[in-house]
Amino acid sequence: MKGFESVIGLEIHAQLLTRSKLFCGCGTGFGAEPNTQVCPVCLGLPGALPVLNRRAVELAVLVGEALHAHTNTSSVFARKNYFYPDLPKNYQISQFDRPLCSGGHLYVSDGGKRRRVRVTRVHLEEDAGKSVHLDDAGGRRTLVDFNRCGVPLIEIVTEPELRSPSEAHALLKALKQILEYTGASSGNMEEGGLRCDVNVSLRRVGERALGSKTEIKNLNSFRNVERALEYEIERQAGLLAGGTAVLNETLMWDAGRDRAVSMRSKEEAHDYRYFPEPDLLRLELKGDWIDDVKSRLPELPEARESRFVESLGLPPYDAAVLCGRRALADYFEEVARLTGEPKSASNWIMTEVLRTAKEGATDEFPVTAANLADLLTLVRSGRISGKMAKDVFARMAGTGETADDAVSRMGLRQVTDVREMRTIVDAVLSENPKSVADYARGKKKLFGFLMGRIMEKTAGQASPTLAESVLRERLEGVREGDANT
Ligand code: ADP
Ligand code: MG
Ligand code: ZN
Repeated sequence: MKGFESVIGLEIHAQLLTRSKLFCGCGTGFGAEPNTQVCPVCLGLPGALPVLNRRAVELAVLVGEALHAHTNTSSVFARKNYFYPDLPKNYQISQFDRPLCSGGHLYVSDGGKRRRVRVTRVHLEEDAGKSVHLDDAGGRRTLVDFNRCGVPLIEIVTEPELRSPSEAHALLKALKQILEYTGASSGNMEEGGLRCDVNVSLRRVGERALGSKTEIKNLNSFRNVERALEYEIERQAGLLAGGTAVLNETLMWDAGRDRAVSMRSKEEAHDYRYFPEPDLLRLELKGDWIDDVKSRLPELPEARESRFVESLGLPPYDAAVLCGRRALADYFEEVARLTGEPKSASNWIMTEVLRTAKEGATDEFPVTAANLADLLTLVRSGRISGKMAKDVFARMAGTGETADDAVSRMGLRQVTDVREMRTIVDAVLSENPKSVADYARGKKKLFGFLMGRIMEKTAGQASPTLAESVLRERLEGVREGDANT
């Protein structure tokens, strides 16, 4: 690798969250019985004609705008011709030289550095079906499920500007976050809602021209993206170091064996014979319509993160965690708004809430924002201590009770009344005459011992600050005001 730098560009496919497919009314739900979500259009039967799904265009434009791309008022669907068993039409409707959106950028943070990476284009296309390879009692055979045929995808292509596998990972993460915020895609890699092809080449440091690249197709996890790039960079570096040229080829990642295998070289590359799709009109969008879609853009992760730091005073780390998912950021903001205390809302969410949410393995929050806000208010008013609040929270998460109900069912309250505290402290002092006498002779460490006795007597329900000040008052004759009631 010495003397070389890696150059990476990504092609990312994300499934759009529409109810129906891109060119027909079939459903898009994940996990349906094979071949139950199909019709003559998505099966490519002769004479069937595609009709464009308006919602898919809206979502694609929303993503384009979120990526600061330019939405073209005129774009063209194109036929990409190739034969494959899971592609019954023998062509895929995509976009080629006139994509829906052009240009754009997003920011990636990697290793403490934040860089702007340009996006080449965002276009619409339909997905293909799925081949299922079986080798069981029924023998070795391949079945085809056409449910995915015609499911709407957007393809997002970046410029070759990424410099490392971890930066590619960071870009994918940032993109997934944007997809989730806009509601355009689940970005769920496990269900095939987000897939990535990586392109990588090496060049001598200081050189401007790009080296010969390879492409690794269809990576379906963040880990595989990073791992495949690491593998391929090392392989190319080995070739170049030995004076061998890198062949321009398409590879497939074999995660099981942790290596990439060649699918085809550029000489055998598909000639897709792209031409404008004759069954669809060119897609003309009015400026007003584009503006209307744009006006529905939510506050995006970057902006939200800075606002959490600048207006709400959160540490950047908290802001980044809380803005990781839109639902989490919304939850936090609700608690912060109801309590007026962003930092304590953040502390609670980053610890108790996220931990409990993880344990329960659901995406739902274990306690509603309103209930959590009430709990934090009880702590601030001194009715319960921060320590008690954790137990109360655990109970609320289990039972769904409000903070007040949980506190009273648990028989919790915090002793915050000065007179009541004096009675307790006096009782503790008269039960421990020797400690009091030793303290008076200078054994100051006994203060802690007596504090412990007070906590014991109240079963942990004494407000520590009040207990401390009353104990000091009694031992030192320093009199505190009655302000703590
Ligand atoms: P192809 O014709 O092989 O599809 P494109 O020029 O359309 O290549 O680019 C596809 C992807 O490959 C883009 O993400 C682009 O940034 C990336 N890419 C192009 N050339 C290189 C290169 N020399 N090294 C790394 N990535 C590249
Ligand atoms: Mg390509
Ligand atoms: Zn259909």
